Amino acid sequence: MLDCVIIGTGAAGISAALTLKANGKSFVLIGNPELSLKISRAEKIPNYPGLSLVTGGEFAAALKRQLKDVEIEITDERVTGVYALKGSFSTLTESGKTFDSRTVILAVGVESVRKIEGESEFLGRGVSYCATCDGFLYKGKTLAVIATSERFEGEVEYLAKLAKKVYFIPLYKNVGFAFQAFENVEKLMRVPTEIKGELKVSGLVFGDQKEPREIPVDGVFFLKESLPPSALVGGLETENGHVAVSRNAETNLRGLFAAGDCTGRPYQYVKAAGEGNVAAHSVIEYLRLAGKNE
Ligand SMILES: Cc1cc2nc3c(=O)[nH]c(=O)nc-3n(C[C@H](O)[C@H](O)[C@H](O)COP(=O)(O)OP(=O)(O)OC[C@H]3O[C@@H](n4cnc5c(N)ncnc54)[C@H](O)[C@@H]3O)c2cc1C
Repeated sequence: MLDCVIIGTGAAGISAALTLKANGKSFVLIGNPELSLKISRAEKIPNYPGLSLVTGGEFAAALKRQLKDVEIEITDERVTGVYALKGSFSTLTESGKTFDSRTVILAVGVESVRKIEGESEFLGRGVSYCATCDGFLYKGKTLAVIATSERFEGEVEYLAKLAKKVYFIPLYKNVGFAFQAFENVEKLMRVPTEIKGELKVSGLVFGDQKEPREIPVDGVFFLKESLPPSALVGGLETENGHVAVSRNAETNLRGLFAAGDCTGRPYQYVKAAGEGNVAAHSVIEYLRLAGKNE
């Protein structure tokens, strides 16, 4: 059993990992090994103490070097669910791996892609964030697959092989997926505005209210970097879409901590790194007290 699972490789998750490592705790750091795209995409960073006008690329390279120097590896997975058990947590990933730990730090950032109408309402009733978890439910059916980066093209292909028809909606440039090789895949360049349905999803709406176009679909997959924290962890308290935390980064679930953008504004590296450090110290204290009571 690990001491901690840290989810997210932005400033918050990396800062938490450095602190846990320095304190000899066992953990996995799960996320994109290229780190958060919000680091590399920054043109110039004017407000990080000690780093004068570095580019995002330089900042990302420095962070990767630092992780390597202290032998912290990144586990390249996307987490699909965190389950609170009695005194521990089970973290599941898209590829079907499970990590058991005494504590979890959520450092998952905030999704920059706006939710569309009906996305939350139909979650679990035709809307899914995980192709390999739910794809088999849509064998021979019609799907819309909205992907935010080329990282998810393997999952798009997986769904294309399962479904009767796939409307592929990439929200990024330089699509590498050879969708032309699949007769059942149609690429759409418009972003849908609404998911329709009654008990379950029945269609996807495009366009404004005057001229809406609806295509019938049985399911909608959103393949995006950050999932809403409340979709990741059942029973997690949120406030205006952010994880509700105490000053010590505690959530309402004992042993589960959160740090960085996912806990609220301001969205800044220095705040994320600071909160990652606080969360890690809270984990250390939590483990110390739990050890006393065992
Ligand atoms: C273009 C741009 C420029 C910016 N410039 C500045 C600046 O100059 N100064 C400044 O202070 N701030 C800047 N920011 C804001 C800054 O990027 C954020 O405040 C900061 O990245 C937050 O760090 P974080 O660790 O909380 O989250 P993030 O950096 O968002 O990292 C979260 C990570 O978690 C991963 N993740 C999410 N869900 C899962 C999951 N289920 N499984 C696995 N991994 C998951 C995400 O993929 C992501 O890599 C900028 C943001 C952008 C977009």
